[in-house]
Amino acid sequence: MSHSFNVAIDGPAGAGKSTIAKRVAREKNYIYVDTGAMYRAMALYLLRLGVSPEDSDKIAKACMQADISIEYQKGEQVVLLNGENVNAFLRTEEVGNMASYSSAVPAVREKLVELQRKLAKTTDVVMDGRDIASVVLPDADVKVYLTASSHTRAKRRYMELIEKGETADLEKIEQDIIERDYRDMHREHSPLVQAEDAVLIDSSNLTIEEVTERILALCR
Ligand code: C5P
Repeated sequence: MSHSFNVAIDGPAGAGKSTIAKRVAREKNYIYVDTGAMYRAMALYLLRLGVSPEDSDKIAKACMQADISIEYQKGEQVVLLNGENVNAFLRTEEVGNMASYSSAVPAVREKLVELQRKLAKTTDVVMDGRDIASVVLPDADVKVYLTASSHTRAKRRYMELIEKGETADLEKIEQDIIERDYRDMHREHSPLVQAEDAVLIDSSNLTIEEVTERILALCR
């Protein structure tokens, strides 16, 4: 059996991982796997239950009851939480912040990593997250660590919100990003790190096309 081609893209929040990963996937005709969305779906489940982000024991117990799976509808990843399509609820700051706490709990990671590995085993994927190159797919064919300054990342997020007609506070967004990075990089299990054999790309001064082209070149 020929092996599937796996591209791993890790990096902090707002570095442009999902935008870039989607483009690379489209060019290569691979499947894009957004692992952050899986952690967010778990966070949504916990928020709905009213579990505190600090209560690791409760999180470890509660996560057993959450059945998370993914499907592809018209090329888009759809996350199912106990059978319900929860895509519309995942991209809020509340869910993102909860995810950065609950994703530090080993029971949560074990469950989702298993699902991610299963997907990559049989399918050509571009998978983005925090621990893809280091833990989930250590044998990935291409490994990229995509980053940008916290200021650049905050500005991108700010523009996104403004374009959606929402109000936003740039300084508060940057502060949230710095705190979320800190939690992701300093947790005990699977912290965000640049894998030794990953290629570093700083997107602060690069266009989406330039970053995409660099990764496509790595795939060749
Ligand atoms: O990338 P995104 O912002 O959607 O991820 C939400 C949170 O999920 C991250 O802050 C991180 O704590 C967690 N996460 C993770 N491992 C991954 C993907 C996301 O711990 N592979």
